[in-house]
Amino acid sequence: MIRVAINGYGNLGRGAEQAVSQNEDMELVVVFTRRDPATVATQGAPVVHVDEMAAWQEKVDVCLNCGGSATDLEEQGPAAVAYFNTVDSFDTHAKIPGYFAAVDAAARAAGHVALVSTGWDPGLFSMLRVLGEAVLPQGRTTTFWGPGVSQGHSDALRRIDGVLDAKQYTLPVPATVAAVKNGEDVELTTRSMHTRDCYVVAAEGADRARIEAEIKAMPNYFADYDTTVTFVSAQELADRHAGIPHGGTVIRRGQTSGEVAATIGFELSLGSNPEFTGSVVAAMGRAVARKAAQGQTGAVTVFDVTLSELSPHSPAELRARYL
Ligand code: NDP
Repeated sequence: MIRVAINGYGNLGRGAEQAVSQNEDMELVVVFTRRDPATVATQGAPVVHVDEMAAWQEKVDVCLNCGGSATDLEEQGPAAVAYFNTVDSFDTHAKIPGYFAAVDAAARAAGHVALVSTGWDPGLFSMLRVLGEAVLPQGRTTTFWGPGVSQGHSDALRRIDGVLDAKQYTLPVPATVAAVKNGEDVELTTRSMHTRDCYVVAAEGADRARIEAEIKAMPNYFADYDTTVTFVSAQELADRHAGIPHGGTVIRRGQTSGEVAATIGFELSLGSNPEFTGSVVAAMGRAVARKAAQGQTGAVTVFDVTLSELSPHSPAELRARYL
């Protein structure tokens, strides 16, 4: 049995708990939080303050770090690996090299393994980008995101004066996706690839035209996209936009010779972004536990994990079933 800890109990922490419960070779033994443990209710595992981590060193095989990328993980990653083998979903793409180096140094000093930046993007999508390019070296890889909710963009909407609540969906442009799959020489720009749909609850008497104009002009977030703004009631937002779906597609289109083409497509359609991300994090936890059992130390990424390490089945079972 792989003994699992979860560090940080937000959306992803709950998703990881759900995922661990679906894996027969894993058990959740403890949840760490920075809050008063008495205020955090799990589905059954004990909740302990992060300051108590040291006492759990011998009782945990892998700790799933489920803190946020914006401010939590840069501190939590190197700190937790002093006690445990770890997995995290650090997703600030530009900062990953520096984060990897910091966690690697801490992991080597402690003699642990840390798998950084997994999930679906970065994570499974990253694996498919590498696979696509390795198999079809002459070609182009394109990633589309959505349909799905963007938390960052939803937060940006809520900061506008007169907006009480809001949800933002990112949508791939279907004609562009089809063109990429067909290998057409389509120009890929911010606007040609994705649109943004905003569902906004406005305060009583607020100037809706001003809110809509402000949203569509917001630099970085909406100005470069075709953006649709729909005003809804708070009830409608709660009834029809409560979930956290997401997904996307990685497409590798390449030439195997002259005019002979091949397309590799990898598509995710996720009813719940945190539950799916938690599922990937849990499977990576199995790989990390196995690497640690073999004496490996230091930081690794999804590129260093084998399918055998991810699977609960033995290599012999995998050969018999799936080759
Ligand atoms: P949350 O904001 O829900 O949780 C982050 C942390 O906030 C938790 O670990 C928890 O720490 C704390 N927290 C949660 N709820 C509360 C609360 N009610 N009051 C006070 N503190 C709270 O973030 P998510 O779980 O949604 O996402 C975590 C990260 O996962 C994201 O930042 C993102 O980077 C990453 N991610 C990566 C993906 C990928 O594909 N690689 C995909 C999706 C997400 P504590 O218990 O210690 O208080």
